[in-house]
Amino acid sequence: MTEPILPRIRPEIAALPPYRQGKQAGADAFKLSSNENPFEPLPSVVEALQHTTPVNRYPDATAGALRARLGEKYGVASDAVHVAAGSVSILHQLVLGTSSVGDEVVYAWRSFEAYPSLPLVAGATGVQVPLAPGARHDLDAMADAITDRTRVVIVCTPNNPTGPIVTSAEFAAFLERVPQDVLVILDEAYAEFVTDPEAVDGLEERIFETHPNVVVLRTFSKAYGLAGLRVGYAIGHPRVLDAARTTGIPLSVTSAAENAAIASLDAEDELMERVAVIVERRDRLVTGLRELGWKVPDSQSNFVWLRTKERTDEIAEAFVAAGLIVRPFSGDGIRISVGEEESLPRVLEVAAAVR
Ligand code: PMP
Repeated sequence: MTEPILPRIRPEIAALPPYRQGKQAGADAFKLSSNENPFEPLPSVVEALQHTTPVNRYPDATAGALRARLGEKYGVASDAVHVAAGSVSILHQLVLGTSSVGDEVVYAWRSFEAYPSLPLVAGATGVQVPLAPGARHDLDAMADAITDRTRVVIVCTPNNPTGPIVTSAEFAAFLERVPQDVLVILDEAYAEFVTDPEAVDGLEERIFETHPNVVVLRTFSKAYGLAGLRVGYAIGHPRVLDAARTTGIPLSVTSAAENAAIASLDAEDELMERVAVIVERRDRLVTGLRELGWKVPDSQSNFVWLRTKERTDEIAEAFVAAGLIVRPFSGDGIRISVGEEESLPRVLEVAAAVR
């Protein structure tokens, strides 16, 4: 059969591999590839899913109840809050709202896998700034990379997939060097796992108020355990967030997702106790791996980074064979999410065997 003629796709899009999810885990395997929360949903959250808008009706397009609730939590007006179907959607919305052909989007590399596609989809150009030793953001080099074409700089703290944070002092010094008309997205998807008191916290420090060019991103996917429902939010200047509201696909946040997020805020104390358990496991995992001789960067998140370089694929296979689904980044390293308690000795066992 001859190949059918297909509609023309933009060449830069056709060249991109479509998003691929980490492998799904089999029955007795642990899924440690997507930085998910290993705990079962709270009964109150499951209960909230029953009380949604009837499914023949559209949800509230603005997720107004959740925005009001987040506004209360952070002491901001609800138009300084934007909610979308995952914080990755907000990244897309903000880049589309600020950047197009000829514009530049600066981000650290290696960092969150979604970043390279953001400028590409917008027709803009991505500028990758290598991480500094210790797998940390090199904010001086990122500031140096800003040109008069730069529209956005993305700062990921703690950095996915390597783990370290940006400190408050580093971020303050960096902002001094960023022109006021350049958007800075502070991606704090893993903020709730941070225990280092020096880490920047865009919400607690209210940086979005002193610097209206800063938008802080958070998500319900990790600490709150709602990855499957897709809810993320941004706090920032209402007129900047309007750009995201305009470029976003309307009605993407379902009523079920909104209700579950509100129920999670109601149960925050209990959820943060779970976060403390994950943090304790993380610290044990980092210590254990270092004792085995692995040079693991400081992790302030719910995952750890193994610098496996050219042995990455082979070592990832050893983990999978032991029932541990991890996330390999070929030629570079392996990210292992902090999961169930029983997964810890298994991770350490494999890490010892392949060392
Ligand atoms: N930012 C970072 C740094 C992430 O690691 C992730 C998820 N892996 C996201 C944003 C997106 O999360 P979500 O869309 O589930 O809110």
